[in-house]
Amino acid sequence: MNIAFIGLGNMGGAMAHNLLKAGQNVWGFDLSPKALQQFADAGGVVCQSPQAAVQQADIVISMLPAAKHVREVYLGEDGILVALKAGSLCIDCSTIDPKTIQDISAAALAYQVNVCDAPVSGGTIGAQAGTLTFMVGADAETFAATQAVLSLMGKNIVHCGDVGTGQVAKICNNLILGISMAAVAEGMALGAQLGIDPQALAGVINSSSGRCWSSEVCNPWPGISPNAPASRNYQDGFAAQLMLKDLGLAVEAAGQVKQPIVLGGLVQQLYQQLCLQGNANLDFSSIIQQYLVAKA
Ligand code: NAD
Repeated sequence: MNIAFIGLGNMGGAMAHNLLKAGQNVWGFDLSPKALQQFADAGGVVCQSPQAAVQQADIVISMLPAAKHVREVYLGEDGILVALKAGSLCIDCSTIDPKTIQDISAAALAYQVNVCDAPVSGGTIGAQAGTLTFMVGADAETFAATQAVLSLMGKNIVHCGDVGTGQVAKICNNLILGISMAAVAEGMALGAQLGIDPQALAGVINSSSGRCWSSEVCNPWPGISPNAPASRNYQDGFAAQLMLKDLGLAVEAAGQVKQPIVLGGLVQQLYQQLCLQGNANLDFSSIIQQYLVAKA
């Protein structure tokens, strides 16, 4: 396969690395010289623009921060749609709103190019290990065509429905995750204030009905989950600003269909506050800091 990879950051860099390790030819582009250098060191071919990267490509993978970057890469001045071979397949793995990818997919039809969405879960650890879950929004034929390349970067490839539904799945999952993390933080902080040992409290929660991924695998209280970001000063996790972005996507999508999401709106404000206090790059479990009130 000839693969172009656009967006070689924390996630994309590791994903492209796995394609290279599997012996694929990968042409890459990123705005960051550091990301490009790491890609070159791993054996990738560095290109000077998105259009140059896709010239040889049968398949394009994009992994970009937000919708505006995805629009720019596909439809902008140096956008890739006009430069792609007819019949090529583009898989956008960024977390963005469903409408943006649906618009791009519709625009791509004029170039006989297939564009689908495949946002991921599994974080940077899953990206490095090649164990990501891909949530694919595509018609059945396109979904089948994604298998060969996605299986080199992940272990679960789920067909969610038509274009945009991968994003719907991702947004809803992260809405629940953002709320559940805040709920665990609230419970842990209250317990500590009321005098129970946090370790004992976590033990009870994790064998009771409050148990969830946020309490068990990624507990926000330091030292409870040894491998969690909370146990390393909230470093190297899923950044609070990315959770804030995803909650914003959920609130926006809910507004489009006039669906109330009460708790999502509330925790969005909590993460907003956390980010404004200079913690945007800390793991989102640092939301517990909003609850650790200094006593007079
Ligand atoms: P990142 O900021 O580390 O990487 C994004 C890369 O895109 C950067 O290297 C940046 O230079 C590059 N870029 C921006 N604009 C560009 C353009 N116009 N052309 C080419 N390159 C451009 O972000 P990340 O952590 O890799 O996240 C990427 C996406 O994956 C986001 O949508 C995020 O929400 C999603 N995601 C991240 C995680 C995680 O744990 N980090 C988990 C799941 C999903």
